Amino acid sequence: MPTVAFYTLGCKVNAYETEAIWRLFEQRGYTRVDFEDEADVYVINTCTVTNTGDQKSRKIIRRAVRKNPDAVVAVTGCYAQTSPAEVLAIPGVDVVIGTTGRNRLLEYIEEARRTRRPVNAVTNIMKVREYENLTVTKFAERTRAFLKIQEGCNNFCTFCIIPWAKGLARSRRPEDVLAEARALAEAGYREIVLTGTHTGGYGEDLDGYRLSDLLRDLSRIDGIERIRISSIEASQLTDDVFEAMAASEKLCRHFHVPLQAGDDAVLRRMRRKYTTGEYAARIERLREIFPEAAITTDVIVGFPGETEAMFEAGVRFVEQIGFSELHVFPYSKRSGTPAARMPDQVPEPEKKRRVQTMLALNERLKAAYRRKFLGRVLSVLPEAREAKPPADADAGEVWLAGLTDNYLRVSFPGDPSLIGELVRVRLDALDGEVLRGTPVRLLSPVAGA
Ligand code: SF4
Repeated sequence: MPTVAFYTLGCKVNAYETEAIWRLFEQRGYTRVDFEDEADVYVINTCTVTNTGDQKSRKIIRRAVRKNPDAVVAVTGCYAQTSPAEVLAIPGVDVVIGTTGRNRLLEYIEEARRTRRPVNAVTNIMKVREYENLTVTKFAERTRAFLKIQEGCNNFCTFCIIPWAKGLARSRRPEDVLAEARALAEAGYREIVLTGTHTGGYGEDLDGYRLSDLLRDLSRIDGIERIRISSIEASQLTDDVFEAMAASEKLCRHFHVPLQAGDDAVLRRMRRKYTTGEYAARIERLREIFPEAAITTDVIVGFPGETEAMFEAGVRFVEQIGFSELHVFPYSKRSGTPAARMPDQVPEPEKKRRVQTMLALNERLKAAYRRKFLGRVLSVLPEAREAKPPADADAGEVWLAGLTDNYLRVSFPGDPSLIGELVRVRLDALDGEVLRGTPVRLLSPVAGA
């Protein structure tokens, strides 16, 4: 049986696509082996979101070539899409394919094996208008499944290379999304996480079928008990989306709404599609519907031209919104983007200082949000055994770890048969970032019981 090994760099969407590509190999009788083992085919799914992503991708490609010089080495993903010539120049690379046309990957591998000549299958992604339908119905996690609904982005923020790597926004056909959701429900997944390059833009290219319609249709699928949107832009929180959210009993009270900067001048230079005032108004509306929702975000500090006063305004804005968690990034030049050529680049030591200030705020906000729920009973979906039970747990006692719908990590003592079942848990104590609790009641029936 031929063997294949995978390496994935970058984001969750890449991880999803690697699983989808593996499915194509599985259907052709391949066995999957560890990347560190000798394989007949290596597939490297690359990232190009920062210049470091490119370097790491090159390093991993060379590692695969060294592992087995006779293997077919296929490189896919964002770095392959934006820099195919650079990838093909690495000795030992046999196939380079970008972010589309992966359904034909096995054909290209056969061709490279037959001819022993490299195959360049990268096409102009900007011309692609159709969503490439790759499916995944099995994940390493037993409880939560990712469901990709969309690809590409039309926003062209000045710091971001993604539209050049993924192309323009295109939505997956509703019937394909719903079929995959039903298959996931049948496979026992209780929670689905909707993902994409620009997830909240779902439907913008479809004829009248919007994200709000999809949320309604997904909410009707039996077996799916939670629907989480991985990320949604403030500008995509429209009245019809609010309405569909309010009507769904399955939607998680967790919204990741990228902010990027909390100052209007910086937002304009980033070419974001909202002002701080508009952003705050959308969050207020969200909180009217879901009063205790977890609102998480991404913040870039040290963007070109960000003065100390603009940064301070950003810190105040983040505090005012009261996020439950921030992902903080120092601005990193991405060659090929307008921001990389902007004057007034912020010196590295200053960026580091701003990151530290924002991270300290993040710690305060995270703890404040978690403390609000102490003493309350919430539904938890345990995913696995807790790797680090509390120090005072009884010897031999099994603890489970999982998430609430509002993205609180909770651990509690319980039987492993509860993994994948919704359990009501009283939250007793905050231990670092984890809430320790006591199970009160099982909500969903134990499979097979
Ligand atoms: S919205 Fe902006 S940051 Fe997000 S993928 Fe599109 S261009 Fe990049």
